[in-house]
Amino acid sequence: MQAIEQMYETDLSSLDVVFRESLGERRSKLKSAIAENGSIPEFNDLLMQVDTALAKLDHGTFGKCERCDGFVETDRLLADPLARFCLGELTDAEKRSLENDLQLASAIQRGLLPQMSLGHGSWKSDFVYEPLGPVSGDYCDVIPAGDDLYFILGDVSGKGMAASLLMSSLRAIFHSLIPLDLELCDLMSRTNRLLVDSSPSNQFATLILGKASRDGELEIVNAGHLPPILVKNGMKGELNFSGLPLGMFAETPFSMNKIKLNQGDSLLLFTDGVTEAVDENGAEFGAKGLFDAIDGDGFAEPSSLIRKCLAGVSAHRGNAGRTDDLTVLALTFS
Ligand SMILES: [Zn+2]
Repeated sequence: MQAIEQMYETDLSSLDVVFRESLGERRSKLKSAIAENGSIPEFNDLLMQVDTALAKLDHGTFGKCERCDGFVETDRLLADPLARFCLGELTDAEKRSLENDLQLASAIQRGLLPQMSLGHGSWKSDFVYEPLGPVSGDYCDVIPAGDDLYFILGDVSGKGMAASLLMSSLRAIFHSLIPLDLELCDLMSRTNRLLVDSSPSNQFATLILGKASRDGELEIVNAGHLPPILVKNGMKGELNFSGLPLGMFAETPFSMNKIKLNQGDSLLLFTDGVTEAVDENGAEFGAKGLFDAIDGDGFAEPSSLIRKCLAGVSAHRGNAGRTDDLTVLALTFS
């Protein structure tokens, strides 16, 4: 059952507006269902629970567990604002059913990953996707479109179910917009607006969107994500241009940068599960650790670049446990 507890952090930050809105919506849906169907006891019971929850919001007691001094986990309240007991109070059967839901979510998420070891024209891509729990808040995608190859790596704020749901919304948005062949900044701006409109106000995502052309040209837009590492002619460097994360402001400006890759050059993208991996003393792997790990002249295969990166993380971590989702995406031009 440890997986379940990992999924839910108890976070008492004020989300009153979000809860009030979601309860209000449930209330009006119930009202109209009762008006259309007559008085159904189950509907009346639900309406009473919604009103009780709204009253608790007014009295500042919303989210308190009804069986102990603790609080109902925030993630669970976001999914179901009528939840009245903390995880510790659930029966074994209830926990099992929750566990089954998580396994299903995990299988669905694995199905959303791109093809491994993909070749497209002169480009090759590969990735490693390691959720900390059953599901990840990282988003990794590689999407061929004509001669071009789009690639995306993102990290949604938070962990667990709420983050994974936002991750799948992002994926749906990109897969709908990419066939429109928009300018990269325009694509990012539209994605951002859709995300602002559709996600709770406290959720955002850092993300890199790139387009690789047949001739080796790369276009990259970085929305607040860690700088990718370019391995060019045996030299390594960070592509240090960034911006604001997605989902924060409806009108966020994005800028696009172009780089030309030659045969044998590669690009490495990663989430903070790599650079923030800690050793037994709590020291982070960091960008320096990553630079040292991917020592070498060049990488014919993206998988060999990823292997070096992961070997470095694992050596640094030693016996320390993992603390975050980890994703690495590599591209090579040949
Ligand atoms: Zn409790």
